[in-house]
Amino acid sequence: MTIDKLMFDLEARHPGETEYLQAVKEVLISIEEVYNQHPEFEKAKIIERLVEPDRIFTFRVPWVDDHGEVQVNLGYRIQFNNAIGPYKGGLRFHPSVNLSILKFLGFEQIFKNALTTLPMGGAKGGSDFYIKGKSDAEVMRFCQAFMLELWHNIGPNMDVPAGDIGVGAREVGYLYGMYKKLIREHTGTITGKGLEYGGSLIRPEATGYGGLYFVDRMLHTHGHDIKGKTIAISGFGNVAWGAALKANQMGAKVVTLSGPDGYIYDPDGVSGEKIDYMLELRATGNDEVSPYAEQFGVEFFEGKRPWEQKVDIALPCATQNELDRKDALALIGNNVLCVAEISNMGCTPGAIDLFIEHKILYGPGKAVNAGGVSTSGLEMTQNAMHLSWPATEVDNRLHQIMSNIHDQCVKYGTQPDGYINYMKGANIAGFMKVAHAMMEQGIV
Ligand code: NAP
Repeated sequence: MTIDKLMFDLEARHPGETEYLQAVKEVLISIEEVYNQHPEFEKAKIIERLVEPDRIFTFRVPWVDDHGEVQVNLGYRIQFNNAIGPYKGGLRFHPSVNLSILKFLGFEQIFKNALTTLPMGGAKGGSDFYIKGKSDAEVMRFCQAFMLELWHNIGPNMDVPAGDIGVGAREVGYLYGMYKKLIREHTGTITGKGLEYGGSLIRPEATGYGGLYFVDRMLHTHGHDIKGKTIAISGFGNVAWGAALKANQMGAKVVTLSGPDGYIYDPDGVSGEKIDYMLELRATGNDEVSPYAEQFGVEFFEGKRPWEQKVDIALPCATQNELDRKDALALIGNNVLCVAEISNMGCTPGAIDLFIEHKILYGPGKAVNAGGVSTSGLEMTQNAMHLSWPATEVDNRLHQIMSNIHDQCVKYGTQPDGYINYMKGANIAGFMKVAHAMMEQGIV
């Protein structure tokens, strides 16, 4: 494999798809050495087949707003690879959504899902619809219109969507309601469902919880204890919320949260009633954090990111490329111990290079945030068995899966000098599983 040639061809074929090209390049660099030890992969063009989705659906989503006006959004579903199980990956509703972003997310999802050890292939989808400022009825009409197009192409053994940015329990409910009406079956095809109709306990918290289980293992492996450590978190969405809850349970202190307006620094820690306050605020549709500063008398940094604060652990929890080289330099200058992406591709390549160069414990999103899709996989299992497991059982399984992912990263990512390159480890472990499955299934 020649990375430059592969990337050149891919850029020529998909010009301007920067996030997607970034995600592919990261994986290629990690797996190059292993790949070249397997001439059979090259012969079967495993990489050339893996970087192109099996298929992409693009569709128009017309809906009527509360003023009676017709609105038109774009909808997508990318079925990337189903070598190890049904297509599986979330739906993102955000104005920034485009093909490049969904392809990067779908590509990453292949390896992430392989790491979970559960039988799930990779997919992603979404729309440029922005839930912010929309009424409940508008969100419902949009979700119904979106599903009217998508339902033909999903199913419990075909493709199982879930939530992501802008798609939480409410949106999943509306999407599933329309799906069920059209298919006339209760098959649990979407995960992240409400507990009353097939959802799994722990699923809402799972991505954040899993992220903290992973960080805990990283720290332990290097002789550190999470107890008493300070943590910077960005965003305050589904993922950040779960991460903050588990960090507190583990005895760590979360000192930052951020929103589109900036970030807050709370030296006493974001816990208990402060988390409840933020949840209530978000439920009103407000995702800013300045009200927190006013309510609890802490500092608010307008238009800034939390990475300038001195903390032991940094957890990007909002969106891709939200921590860049400059932020990485600030964190390293402040002796950060561990940086773990709970958002997908939270750090830019320049930031990752710096973390690895300075031997910082760096955890890539596809390993650190795999707890979300793992618990979705557990939801699929419960649906297929027509039963619900208690919270402790789901949580124990999640814990076990995250430990296992950590161990795979250690196995494939430990360098001759003892440094664990978790990014390399995660990419190689995920890739090898998918590549072997593709080899065994022939050229399809
Ligand atoms: P969420 O609840 O919608 O929260 C995401 C937050 O990030 C929102 O406050 C949003 O604010 C902000 N955001 C989104 N796009 C942005 C952009 N382009 N620039 C700046 N800010 C942006 O979503 P979530 O479920 O917590 O997801 C957060 C991250 O975790 C994402 O990277 C997602 O892919 C990843 N993840 C989620 C799960 C899951 O189970 N939900 C699983 C694995 C990974 P605005 O709306 O104001 O922009």
